[in-house]
Amino acid sequence: MIIMKNKAVTISYVLRDSAGTLIEQTTPDNPLAFLFGVGGMLPDFEANLLGMQQKETFDFHIKSDRAYGEVDKSAVVDLPIQTFVFDDKLATEMLVVGKMIPMRNDQNQLIHGKIVEVKKDTVKMDFNHPLAGIDLHFTGEVLEVRNATEDELAHGHVHGPGGHHH
Ligand SMILES: [Zn+2]
Repeated sequence: MIIMKNKAVTISYVLRDSAGTLIEQTTPDNPLAFLFGVGGMLPDFEANLLGMQQKETFDFHIKSDRAYGEVDKSAVVDLPIQTFVFDDKLATEMLVVGKMIPMRNDQNQLIHGKIVEVKKDTVKMDFNHPLAGIDLHFTGEVLEVRNATEDELAHGHVHGPGGHHH
């Protein structure tokens, strides 16, 4: 069976940047399982896997402009330190440089910002995607290709090992 739309695909992969620095990798216990062709993955990621079969290996690059975009300087903002005051208490445990903080934007969407710098009255936060500006290099192996179940197609995601549990 080959990888195409509406197949449940399980892969192992290693993601590095263009300098070869490890960004993330799956483990044998926790591979990536996803429903192919439903918009959950980067289009170029799927384009590189289309037509592959179980046990085939892959090695491809995706430039940042085709992945998570360039770094947007306007997405780095200074927030008043009061943003981090809850019940009259400054949440100092949150204010650690490098820490990712879930927040809500003007449209009440959940977004994640990284603490860049903590000053007396403000906190500099970076709301760019962690992979913005990074050229991606994927290597890995196709572990399984199967027909998605009706439940999986209805839910838009894969169930079982590497997928959703509910
Ligand atoms: Zn589900």
